[in-house]
Amino acid sequence: MKQKIIPLLLLILVIHGKAQQTPQRGDPTLTEIWSPVPRVIAPGKLSTDPPSDAVVLFGTAKDSMQWESKTGKPFNWKATDEHLTVVPFAGDLQTKQGFGDCQLHIEWRTPAEVAGEGQGRGNSGVFLMGLYELQVLDSYNNKTYSNGQAGSIYKQHMPMVNVCRPPGEWQTYDIIFTAPQFYTDGMLKSAARITVTQNGVLIQNNVELWGPMIFVGVPKYEKHATKAPLLLQDHHNGVSFRNIWIREL
Ligand code: MG
Repeated sequence: MKQKIIPLLLLILVIHGKAQQTPQRGDPTLTEIWSPVPRVIAPGKLSTDPPSDAVVLFGTAKDSMQWESKTGKPFNWKATDEHLTVVPFAGDLQTKQGFGDCQLHIEWRTPAEVAGEGQGRGNSGVFLMGLYELQVLDSYNNKTYSNGQAGSIYKQHMPMVNVCRPPGEWQTYDIIFTAPQFYTDGMLKSAARITVTQNGVLIQNNVELWGPMIFVGVPKYEKHATKAPLLLQDHHNGVSFRNIWIREL
């Protein structure tokens, strides 16, 4: 039996190989898609500038109107026309508007004057839907656990590379986030996914999140709304943010 199967397998491989070499015939237009047409939008002058369809969450001080303290208290961080800065112990700050699937651009800067070490140096975080943390940290010559350094999905995925600029310099995150989906009974239908570039370099490539950020233990999904506020963390360090814009997908 075995003696018959092996020549048969060889024959199939040879025929398959021949088929691959044969030039393709037929109508190439059958695989052309002409409608719908992707919307035309104007790019910003710099790729970091908000495009025409973005919601600008922070450009100048007046945009502090769009933010509130997580506890529902009024805006209590420091805002100038240049940036938004954590006031240590003021609490987390979140957008009044909720977002789900999105493209987010955000620039951040850890204090130029280096103080503390490990997780205590320039710590903050970008929490998608208020739950899923992309870590912000001064990870320039600052040792900590890999899945807790800048660019990590905190306590889950370490960044592919450490592309951090020195403390005091502005850095960019460009994020593509896919929100998790749940069945009506609360079971997880599909996990959240995230792609991130830091300073133009890919650091997270469509990774699947294990659940919301938790400091201790194993994360676990719990059903939540399809849109939720974007949150910036007060980890008691004077981290600044600027040029925050988001596109709902
Ligand atoms: Mg953090």
